[in-house]
Amino acid sequence: MTRVPIHIVWFKRDLRLTDHLPLLHASRDELPVLLVYFFEPSVMHYKDSDERHWRFVTQSLVDINNTLATHGHHIYRFNEEVIPTIEKILYHFDVQKIFSHQETGNHITYQRDQQMVQFCKARGIEWVEYPTNGVIRGLKNRRTWSQRWMETMSAPTCSVDLTQLKTIALPPDMMGHFDFHASPSPLFQPGGPTHAKRYLESFLYDRKSGYQKFISKPEESRRSCSRLSPYLAWGNLSMREVYQATLQAIQTTGDKRNLGFFLHRLHWHCHFIQKFESECRMEFENLNHGFDDIRKEVKPEWIAAWENAQTGFPLVDACLNCVKATGYLNFRMRSMLVSFLTHYLWQPWQEGAHFLARQFLDYEPGIHYPQFQMLAGTTGVNTIRIYNPIKQSIDHDPHGFFIRKWVPVLQHVPDSFIHEPWNMNEEEQQLAGIKLGIDYPLPIVDAPTAANFARVNLWKTKKSTPVQNENKVILKKHTKRKSEKEQPLQLKIPHSIADSSGKIVS
Ligand SMILES: Cc1cc2nc3c(=O)[nH]c(=O)nc-3n(C[C@H](O)[C@H](O)[C@H](O)COP(=O)(O)OP(=O)(O)OC[C@H]3O[C@@H](n4cnc5c(N)ncnc54)[C@H](O)[C@@H]3O)c2cc1C
Repeated sequence: MTRVPIHIVWFKRDLRLTDHLPLLHASRDELPVLLVYFFEPSVMHYKDSDERHWRFVTQSLVDINNTLATHGHHIYRFNEEVIPTIEKILYHFDVQKIFSHQETGNHITYQRDQQMVQFCKARGIEWVEYPTNGVIRGLKNRRTWSQRWMETMSAPTCSVDLTQLKTIALPPDMMGHFDFHASPSPLFQPGGPTHAKRYLESFLYDRKSGYQKFISKPEESRRSCSRLSPYLAWGNLSMREVYQATLQAIQTTGDKRNLGFFLHRLHWHCHFIQKFESECRMEFENLNHGFDDIRKEVKPEWIAAWENAQTGFPLVDACLNCVKATGYLNFRMRSMLVSFLTHYLWQPWQEGAHFLARQFLDYEPGIHYPQFQMLAGTTGVNTIRIYNPIKQSIDHDPHGFFIRKWVPVLQHVPDSFIHEPWNMNEEEQQLAGIKLGIDYPLPIVDAPTAANFARVNLWKTKKSTPVQNENKVILKKHTKRKSEKEQPLQLKIPHSIADSSGKIVS
């Protein structure tokens, strides 16, 4: 049997048709292209994976396939591992090249990519990978990284002419391998480039007005933050598309205050992934091994209380219920959850990282693990922050609206006790229709004692010689030289809206 020569475009966390270099380059070649996505059992059964992620991916593929259908194209979905599936494709087609984006993923996808390199080599297939957003593979240090990030973001986006794309259909005997069906859930953001663009537009031209003001408020931030994180994590939008649309919006609306603030966070997105790209052991190990001897005692009952929103701290429990139900929390509330687990409960961050990965719809390994470690204080190079759950509650949910929404048993507790219900006496509990210790738990730790213990131990360890020695190596690898560090990030924005130095005033 003569096998038809083809190329493959392998969609991963780049579920879009715009600004997509693998698709563009495949479309420019003479050979027909097979478009594929793999729902890999090994990835779907890993500890960080949840149905919400695959529902988002499925919705994205449906959306993309609707667009492709008008041009007679289709992305084929496989519910099998990558290499065995390509083996089967090879039976029908002579695969010349596989085009994809580079992936800064978890342990499983990293191993799969290494096997894939060997497999392609053995089968004479050229695997052409393109950088994802501003992340650079094989980078030795950060000296020129920010500048290169700016160049990537400022370069023109690439558009694929779908009328010129030549795709090939899968033979009938290879179809019907797909058996993943996600049940719909209206509480989650829907996946797909169409929704992504809707969120982008509504943020840049409307919702952004409360961005800075409400960024830390658990309730208000749900509207005033961009909510673009799942669309960036699963690639419904490229970072460059968001960056350039933001510059355009700054020019149109003149709102450099909120949108300048936002641009810095886009830069952080890639900054953290870059860190993880060069240090993927951060999924499991402390970045700074000087912290390896602290938090040795795992208390499963405390971890269960945290996971099940039964800590007795209203804002902590509300955040846990909320993220489980909706897949979203703002940055400060995520930070508070990690801080509570690692500082107040003094548990290893590893005990909570996969659990929260499963809850976040926007789960992005490259942001998730470095953020987790920064908050747990195990990088050694970042300031130690202990988020007091009572203070966060008073500051950011003063009237307890968010708390009552997500911990309904507290709905009749008055404002004066909503942050510390344990201060209610029996009569006050009766009036609030609640019996503490039965309807809602008493706090599982004494907050001031727990915070003090964490503070003393973390600072002592941070100052220790092993931590300080490792810090030197970490700083060399992940930060710029001192002279460069002092310069603020130069975000290239149109002349009319930058100050004389080109720096955004935010
Ligand atoms: C423990 C922990 C785990 C996290 N895990 C993830 C994760 O898996 N995926 C993820 O996208 N973000 C993660 N974040 C970062 C941040 O909380 C989310 O990006 C943000 O809350 C998403 O909401 P938004 O899109 O409305 O953000 P906006 O404030 O509107 O920001 C716009 C975009 O900038 C990026 N961004 C914003 N804040 C950060 C930040 N602190 N670090 C890196 N990038 C940022 C995101 O891509 C975000 O979509 C984590 C934070 C913590 C503390």
